[in-house]
Amino acid sequence: MNKKKALVIGSGFAGMSAAINLAHKGLDVTILEKNNTIGGRARHFSASGFTFDMGPSWYWMPDVFESFFNKFGKSVSDYYELIRLDPSYKVTYEGGDEMDIPADMGELETLFESIEPGAGLQLRAFLKQAAYKYEVGINKLVYKPGRSLTEFTSLKLLVDVVRMDVFQSMSKHVRKYFKNPRLIQLMEFPVLFLGALPENTPALYSLMNYADMSLGTWYPKGGMHKIVEAMGKLAEELGVKILTNNAVTKINHSGGIVKSVTTDQGEIHGDVVISGADYHHVETKLLDSDTRNYTDKYWDSRVMAPSSLLYYLGVDKKLDGLLHHNLFFDTDFTPHAHDIYTDPKWPEKPLFYASLTSKTDSTVAPEGHENLFLLIPVAPGLEENDEIREKYLDMILTRMEEHTGQSIKQHIVYKRSFAHRDFISDYNSFKGNAYGLANTLTQTAILKPSLKSKKLKNLYYTGQLTVPGPGVPPSLISGIVVADEVEKDLF
Ligand SMILES: Cc1cc2nc3c(=O)[nH]c(=O)nc-3n(C[C@H](O)[C@H](O)[C@H](O)COP(=O)(O)OP(=O)(O)OC[C@H]3O[C@@H](n4cnc5c(N)ncnc54)[C@H](O)[C@@H]3O)c2cc1C
Repeated sequence: MNKKKALVIGSGFAGMSAAINLAHKGLDVTILEKNNTIGGRARHFSASGFTFDMGPSWYWMPDVFESFFNKFGKSVSDYYELIRLDPSYKVTYEGGDEMDIPADMGELETLFESIEPGAGLQLRAFLKQAAYKYEVGINKLVYKPGRSLTEFTSLKLLVDVVRMDVFQSMSKHVRKYFKNPRLIQLMEFPVLFLGALPENTPALYSLMNYADMSLGTWYPKGGMHKIVEAMGKLAEELGVKILTNNAVTKINHSGGIVKSVTTDQGEIHGDVVISGADYHHVETKLLDSDTRNYTDKYWDSRVMAPSSLLYYLGVDKKLDGLLHHNLFFDTDFTPHAHDIYTDPKWPEKPLFYASLTSKTDSTVAPEGHENLFLLIPVAPGLEENDEIREKYLDMILTRMEEHTGQSIKQHIVYKRSFAHRDFISDYNSFKGNAYGLANTLTQTAILKPSLKSKKLKNLYYTGQLTVPGPGVPPSLISGIVVADEVEKDLF
């Protein structure tokens, strides 16, 4: 019997997850990827002896990765070695004070207690509730396709949803437990991954604190791209064909059914098409206007997650006073947040993040060197140029030099930057966004762009602009959810 043929657009985590799941269900799957390597925003590159992950660097929720591979009779350890980081990360505050976040829960409670009397026990209570949210959120809610409200109408689930603080903001929730501004900032940090301010993020997402503090920060030896390699291998083991250098230029349909896609290499027929490329790009560039799910007005009114100004730097010496992950909260976030979310513009004094995987892994930089990755979150849709990139690099390196008391600028032997125009040219990203659509209350579950086309019977969407949202684990889950929907509709 001829197998049904699925075409997956894009080889990001969501596209690859969808492809793997569909192949496992017995479909003949081909991935079409515009770039010359797989992985999408999680690609990597090597230059001058340094290896850089281009996008994600925090490996959180190891259970999601493990259960992903378990579905196919595999384990994470079949593909890569995981290391738990301890300390998990370093936070630098205004005035130069630092806090190293220990992996051990007892040590973390002691640290909290030393900053605010009673905060140790408060942390325990906070994380107990967050554990419940994680359990319900990760096991029940994120696997919902968000196609209908009826998915949420079981009494048990409704009770869970109410208990999960869906209608309270993260900002209020954290302040109920802690008073010290540093502890508040620390507890609010993980939701920044979800693309919106703590004031606009439902307190349901304190499940991210559970992921951060209880489940821990991990690192796949070699780099985050080891996950991409693992998924590439698993896809090939299941018979998925991966065609790189194949940009899809058109989705062809007749009678409300997609028949084929055109790429810059030719036309390929399929029984079902799943797009893991940025949703807005697919709607506006690959489809005719009468087959789109959403109008321009709809897209313009979406709250996008931030873009990022990124630097990949090779440094010809070891750097002191820095860990694998470093959050520079050494300036007030309020004006920076305003410039990202309220009145989009280039920030005056941004917060930033520095990652040096060479602190943990000797394979990613020559001996005696460091690979330094810097990230400044900025508003999507900003105009940018080389001069702006240089200005911000100089600004944050000066702060790092002053804070750590060592010269860095004159030791840079490799430099590359990446921002809006690269997100657009490399990934067809809407407004140059880095992390897709923000997880605000009005952009959650059924209120996210639908994973299924309303006009074309066999067209589906996956990835960080649809359910469940941005991040590597949600993208893996997005691929699983869409594959299950295809299976329900197709068989
Ligand atoms: C700088 C940065 C840091 C991040 N940090 C973290 C982190 O630490 N931890 C974490 O969990 N998450 C992090 N994220 C988020 C996470 O990386 C993303 O949510 C996830 O990788 C998105 O996967 P995706 O499959 O939805 O999209 P993508 O990875 O963008 O995949 C889409 C794919 O579609 C391809 N494509 C586009 N148009 C076409 C076309 N016309 N034809 C063919 N192919 C096409 C693109 O080239 C791309 O490969 C980060 C993201 C960025 C950018």
